[in-house]
Amino acid sequence: MGRFSRYFGNSVPFHSDYAKKHGIDNTTTNPNTLANIYYTGTKVVDPIYRFFKTKDKRYSVIVMSWYRSKAVNKGVKGDSRSGHLSGKCVDLAVYFEGVLVPPGQWWAMLEANMATQKKIDRLPFDIAIVETGKKVASWNNIVHLGISRKNYPDFKREVAFW
Ligand SMILES: [Zn+2]
Repeated sequence: MGRFSRYFGNSVPFHSDYAKKHGIDNTTTNPNTLANIYYTGTKVVDPIYRFFKTKDKRYSVIVMSWYRSKAVNKGVKGDSRSGHLSGKCVDLAVYFEGVLVPPGQWWAMLEANMATQKKIDRLPFDIAIVETGKKVASWNNIVHLGISRKNYPDFKREVAFW
């Protein structure tokens, strides 16, 4: 397999501060998981990166969490059925000149853009959880995005605001 993403290096999906801190291996050789990471990268991560960089070069898109091994997922208190375990989910943060853009704000920008495009060109995803700080006050940094290859081309596009 080549690159998981056009804009992010192949170590990015496996990066985890928690894993690093605790000396845990956060890589995988599972072909299905690797295929999921590639799918998430090319279908979700790359288009979002392109969208913001095209809009204004001062935007940065940061991968906060992508693949998680069982140990890492447990350590960061992820859901036991989390899509991060199989590389289907990715958490993204967007910054403008180093300042965090509230997830609800950048998600609205994406939604507005998607609304003007043909269905086929829209961002494909099955679930987007936009952290707004409504449910958990400290959760307001990222949008969690999940995509399943099996749903192609009828992605669910469910959006939840947490
Ligand atoms: Zn997530």
